Amino acid sequence: REREAYAARHEEARTQDGHRVEVAANLGNTAHAADAVERGAEGVGLLRTEFVFMAHPDAPDLDTQIAEYRQAIDALDGRPLVARTLDVGGDKPLPYWPLPQEDNPFLGLRGIRLALTRPEVLETQLRALLTAAGDRPLRIMFPMVKDIAEFRAAREIFDRVQAEVQASDVQLGVMIEIPSCALLAPSLAAEVDFFSIGTNDLTQYTLAIDRGHAELSAQADGLHPAVLALIRMTVEAAHAEGKWVGVCGELASDAQAVPVLIGLGVDELSVSARQVPMVKARLRELTLETARHHADMALRQSTSDAVREALEAL
Ligand code: PEP
Ligand code: MG
Repeated sequence: REREAYAARHEEARTQDGHRVEVAANLGNTAHAADAVERGAEGVGLLRTEFVFMAHPDAPDLDTQIAEYRQAIDALDGRPLVARTLDVGGDKPLPYWPLPQEDNPFLGLRGIRLALTRPEVLETQLRALLTAAGDRPLRIMFPMVKDIAEFRAAREIFDRVQAEVQASDVQLGVMIEIPSCALLAPSLAAEVDFFSIGTNDLTQYTLAIDRGHAELSAQADGLHPAVLALIRMTVEAAHAEGKWVGVCGELASDAQAVPVLIGLGVDELSVSARQVPMVKARLRELTLETARHHADMALRQSTSDAVREALEAL
C-alpha cells in the first residue's frame, strides 16, 4: 500500500467523487524544498521561518534572508510557498533576541505579539519574502494572532513593504491557533486572503494542555470535538467570504482526522514531506459524502476518545 501511494505521489489528490484537496509540505529548512517536491508536495503549506533564523548565529540580514527564501521558491518551480513570519517566544527562544523571563511563556510575548514589538525585524522579513518571490506565488501568514487588531497592525507593515517591492502574486493570511480567532473568524475572514489552522497550538489553547507536557500531552488530541467545532466555524466563515482554509498542524496527517477535516470543508492539508504520499492516498479512498459523514459523527461526540471510537466503528 505504501509503495502504491509512493508511485502515485505526483498525481493530484481527488476524492473518488472528484473533490480536489491540495497536499503541501511543512518545512523548517529551505534546502529541503526540493525534497518535498520530489515526495509529491504541491507546494509548501508552512515554512517555519524561525528555523531559518535559528540556523544563523546572528539575525540574518536582508540579503541572507532573500537567499534563503529564494532557495525554497526556486525549488518549488511555480508551486506556492506559504511562509509564516517569525514565530518565536513561548517554547522557541532565539539566542540573539533576549526575551523577558515570564511565568507563562505560552501565554506571553510570542508569535505576532513579539514581532510587533520589533516592527523593523518583521519589515525586513517581509521585504525579503516579497523580493525573493517576484512574480511567483507567495502566501504570507502571521502566527498566534488573537484578533483582527493584530492582523491589521501586521498588515500595515506589509502594505508599506509592498508599496516598495514588486511582487505580483501574494496573499496575506493568519494562522488560527488561538480560540478567540476561530470564534471571531467572520470578522477576520472579510479581511484576510486565507486561514491556516495550526492545530497544535489551537488544541493546546482550547484544552488548556501544554502541547509538550510529559504526562498530559497525549490528551492534547486535535480530534477533540471542541477543537473540531472551532475548525468548523473557521471554515464556514472563510468560505462565506470565498477564502480558502488549510490545516498545517499534526492533525492534518492523522489517518482518522483526514476524512473529518475534508468533511469539515478544509481545502488544503500541509504535512511533513514524508507523509505527503500517504495523505494523498488516504484522500483518494474517500468520497466527499463519506468525509462529511465522518465529520458529522465526530462533531456529535463529547470527548476525543469518543470521537476516535466512533470513527473507528465507521
Ligand atoms: C501549530 O501550532 O499547529 C503549528 C503548525 O505551528 P507550530 O507547530 O510551529 O507551533
Ligand atoms: Mg503554532
